Parts: sequence; C-alpha cells; structure tokens
Amino acid sequence: MAFVTRFAPSPTGPLHLGHAYSAILGFDMAMEEGGDWLLRIEDIDRSRARKEWEQSIFDDLEWLGLWWSEPVMRQSERGKEYQAALERLRGHELLFGCRCPRAHITSTLSAPQEGDPLVEGPDGPVYPGHCKPLRRDWSDHLWSPDYLNAPILRLDMAEATKLGEWRAMEGYVFEFRETGQGPNGEHGLIAFTADYLIRHIGDVVLARRGMGTSYHLSVVIDDAAQGVTEVVRGQDLFEATKIHVVLQHLLGLPTPVYHHHRLIRDDQGKRLAKRDDARAIQKYRSEGATPADIRRMVGL
Ligand code: GLU
Ligand code: ZN
Repeated sequence: MAFVTRFAPSPTGPLHLGHAYSAILGFDMAMEEGGDWLLRIEDIDRSRARKEWEQSIFDDLEWLGLWWSEPVMRQSERGKEYQAALERLRGHELLFGCRCPRAHITSTLSAPQEGDPLVEGPDGPVYPGHCKPLRRDWSDHLWSPDYLNAPILRLDMAEATKLGEWRAMEGYVFEFRETGQGPNGEHGLIAFTADYLIRHIGDVVLARRGMGTSYHLSVVIDDAAQGVTEVVRGQDLFEATKIHVVLQHLLGLPTPVYHHHRLIRDDQGKRLAKRDDARAIQKYRSEGATPADIRRMVGL
C-alpha cells in the first residue's frame, strides 16, 4: 500500500519549531517510502482561523523545502461530510444533546494539548453524564433544519462500544498500531477495552453549536477522505487516538497506522504553544537562519 501522510495545522498563529519538526518528520518519512505528504488546513474554529495565517503556513513550509500534493484540504469546506457522519451516528442512536454550561466543557474545536487544565480524559474531565437522561426530549429538536444552531452533541460512549460486531464479543479490545511512541513509551500494538473508553474517555463532544463538528470527528473523516495510511503527529494526541479508533469503527472507516512523535519543548521543558512567537519559524527566518538550521534545532 502506498504511504500517505499529512500535516494538519490550524491557521490560528505562526508555525513554530514544534510544527516544523512534525512537518519535516512526516515529509521525510513520506519521501523515504516514495509516498505522499498532504496538507490539511484545520480551520473549523472560524473565530480564530485567519487566511493570513494560512498563507504564512504555506510560505514557511515552502521555505523549509517541503512540497505537497494538491489539493490542500480545508475543513471549513467540509460541513456536509461532517453532517452526514453525524446523521449516521444519530441513526444508531449514539448521540445526545448536552446543555451543560459552556464553562464546564473544555474546547473541542482544536486538538487537545498537553497541559490543558484538569485533564483526566483526552478532552479534559470525563463528562459526568448530566444530560444523558434528557436524550429523548432533545432528539427531535436537535435535528431542526437549523442544524448549525444545534446544541453540543456528545457520543454516548457506553452505547457506542456496544454497537455492531462488538456486541457479540464480550471484552472486545480496540486497537491501533503505533510506530512512534506514546508519552509513556507505548509502541507497537496498542489495545484498549470498552470499559477503558467509558471510564477514561467518556461521552466526547462530536459537534458544537455554530460549528457542526469537532476536532475528533473532522480528523477521522478527513484522514480517511485523504487516504492517509500513516498519521504523523505529536505525542499529546496519543490518548485522543483511542477516540479516533472508535469513530473509525462506527463510521466504517479504516484505521491508519499512527506515529506519535516527541514534542519540541522550550528551555523550561514546556511544550511550545501557538502563542509562543519566540519560537516562530518567521522569527528565525528574519534572523537569517537557514532551513538546515531549523532541522538541526529540532534534531533532524
Ligand atoms: N490541527 C491539529 C493541531 O494543530 C492537528 C492534529 C492532528 O494532527 O491530528 O494540533
Ligand atoms: Zn451536559
């Protein structure tokens, strides 16, 4: 099978060294395998995404000496695909509407990051299930034609893990293949049970008012649509991969191989953040650094 990977930045700030590492690593792996390196702009959070940042991402990647196959995928153009997937999950009665105050729910528009406050599951505290009993009252209202104004939609994880082939197989173990490393050195075949998903991950948010999707839903649909065979990304997304595997099963999509890589950290050992302009590629460029210098700085 051809090797296809992707780089999927959100255009909400400058690319920094951490992005450069992820991009170059994925690119090098694709070239080594004679495969493809694709780009996807993860711009579902329209309040934060900016065209200017998108352009600066292209500029930086080109400057780094990377190239990609067209077309570039933009998540902001894929609402119909996300909606179709939600309809399918709703058809299996796996969704419920959540009315809990926004403050109690961590952001689900961007990928979860290391160091998010109160982290227990990959998206923050595992959802306690307040709104699940309201499911019936909400189900009609949720699917009014004014779809984008629906409240938050969550996946009923307990029901999701019972669906289809799993129902027949007690103790079914979900799995994916890891060719890199999780934060605790996880490598090889990564297996986890339904019970783990229910206790440690819970009823994750799949769509949010005004957005019609979430990071988890979009990433799974789009990796499949782009024919991605190997996902190369930071270790902070290792736990979230378990959500992605469940969604792939539910939506009948293939599970790619995953390659989670180490994170580039600042001098204090903290993961670089978008707002960390001090490590922006633009800044190194303006100071006269070469692409080879950037490779050296990230250890490639
Ligand atoms: N847009 C995500 C990020 O920048 C990408 C996550 C992924 O590669 O799955 O963190
Ligand atoms: Zn709720």
